[in-house]
Amino acid sequence: MNEFELIDRFFSRPLPAGGIVMRGVGDDCALLDCGGRVLAMTTDLLLEGRHFLPDADPASLGHKALAVNLSDLAAAGASPRAFQLALALPRADETWLEAFCHGLFALADEQGCVLAGGDTTRAPRLASETTQVDGPLTICITALGDLPGAAVRTRAGARVGDDLWVSGTLGDARAALACRRGEFAGVPLADATSFAARMDRPQPRVALGIALRGLATAAIDISDGLLGDLGHILKRSRVGAVVEWERLPRSGALRGLHVEQQRRFAMAGGDDYELLFTAPPAQRKAVEAAGFTSSTAVTRIGRIVEAADRLRVVDGGGVELPTPWHAFDHFAE
Ligand code: ADP
Ligand code: MG
Repeated sequence: MNEFELIDRFFSRPLPAGGIVMRGVGDDCALLDCGGRVLAMTTDLLLEGRHFLPDADPASLGHKALAVNLSDLAAAGASPRAFQLALALPRADETWLEAFCHGLFALADEQGCVLAGGDTTRAPRLASETTQVDGPLTICITALGDLPGAAVRTRAGARVGDDLWVSGTLGDARAALACRRGEFAGVPLADATSFAARMDRPQPRVALGIALRGLATAAIDISDGLLGDLGHILKRSRVGAVVEWERLPRSGALRGLHVEQQRRFAMAGGDDYELLFTAPPAQRKAVEAAGFTSSTAVTRIGRIVEAADRLRVVDGGGVELPTPWHAFDHFAE
C-alpha cells in the first residue's frame, strides 16, 4: 500500500451534502465555503530524520516549515492569512528557538500570514537497554488562506488541449540532497551553494498563485517530483499529458550536471515547491503577464491530451523518453 492508496482507503470519506467543506481530501488545500468567500486550509508535518537531518539549520527549518504550507495555498490561489504551529521539542534550547523564529517570522511577515495559535510539547525520551535518546523534533503547521468563490481551482480542472506550465526551475533541491549525501563529487562550490538554497529556503509561489486566479484550469505544487505530481492532476482531471523534456526549466547549476541526472532530478526530484498548472492556449499572453506581475518565471512545458494517451515525456524530435523513476512515496520501502 503506498502513501496515496493508504490515504484513499482510510481517510477519503464522502463529504456531507450542503456542508461547509467544498473540497476535502485529495487536493493541495481543503476548501471551505464561508458564504461567497472561500477559506483554503492545509497542513504539513516536518519530522526530524524523515524530512530533515538532526543538525539542520534552525532558521532554515522555520522558513521551510511555513513555506511548504504557503506553497499549498499558492496552488489553490489563496492569499495567506493565518497559521497555527504545533511543536514537539526534544529540549527548550533558547538559541535554537531564536533562530527558528527568525526564519519562521521573516517569511510569515513577508507574506502577511499571522501566527494565530498552536501547541507545544516535549518530545518523549526514547530508551533502549543501553542509551536514552530524545524523540524526534516534529514541526506541524496548519495554514489558512482565502480566495473569492469564483476563483476556485483544484487538481481536477485540466482539459484536453490545455497548455501545461511550470514556475521557476526544477531539480535543484534534489541536486542539493545528492550533494549532501555525497552522491557526486566535483560540483563547483557556487553551484552546490545555490542547490542548497533551493532545498533549505524554498520560495512559495504565492503571488503567482494569486495572479493565476481565473486563468489556470488546474494547479498543484510540486513537492514529490514533476511527474508524480503531474500524475495527480491527470488522475483527478481524467486526462493525459505530453511533456517536452527540452522545455523543462533548469538552472545554470543543474545544466552543469550529466544529462541523465538533470532528467532524473528535474522530473522526479522532490522538494521543488514550484507550481505546475494548466491553462487554455488562448490564455498564453495572460499567463505570461501573470508571471511578469508576480516576478516569477513561467515556462510552457507541454500539453494536456486524452487520458488514453497517458503521460509521455518526449525529446525535441517527439521521440518518447524512458522515465524509470518513481515519485517520492513515504511508504515505498
Ligand atoms: P500535499 O503534498 O499537497 O501537502 P499530500 O500529498 O500530503 O498533499 O496529501 C494528499 C491529500 O491527502 C491532501 O488532500 C491531504 O489533505 C490528504 N491527506 C493526507 N494525509 C491525510 C490524513 N491523515 N487524513 C486526511 N487527509 C489526509
Ligand atoms: Mg501540495
